[in-house]
Amino acid sequence: MGHEQDVRATGLVKYLFGSNNMIERAGIDAVKSLLENDGIACLIRNENLSMAAGELPIQDCLPEIWILNDDDYPRAHEMVEAWRNAPIETHEQWLCPECGENIEGQFTSCWKCGRERRT
Ligand SMILES: [Zn+2]
Repeated sequence: MGHEQDVRATGLVKYLFGSNNMIERAGIDAVKSLLENDGIACLIRNENLSMAAGELPIQDCLPEIWILNDDDYPRAHEMVEAWRNAPIETHEQWLCPECGENIEGQFTSCWKCGRERRT
């Protein structure tokens, strides 16, 4: 049970994961859609706070996923653990906003026009 100390119950929602892990926004979104595809209601907190990183302690800026229904929590936790332990998938394609080219996930900028993936 030792590593469970970051799991906080609030009565309304259950904190699933976030703050103590350097999980990128992309990971949060991936987990959220994973849960939603399975019919588990969840919400993201601190979604917009990450923009304030640098002014606030980093642990206060990272997005967190909360589960709305207690009954879903054990299953959600299992899914997140499985997702965490899965090999990191970095090959998801992205669309260049500049030229519309499909770029393989391992590239951080467009091979065609040179635009950075994140601006
Ligand atoms: Zn491009």
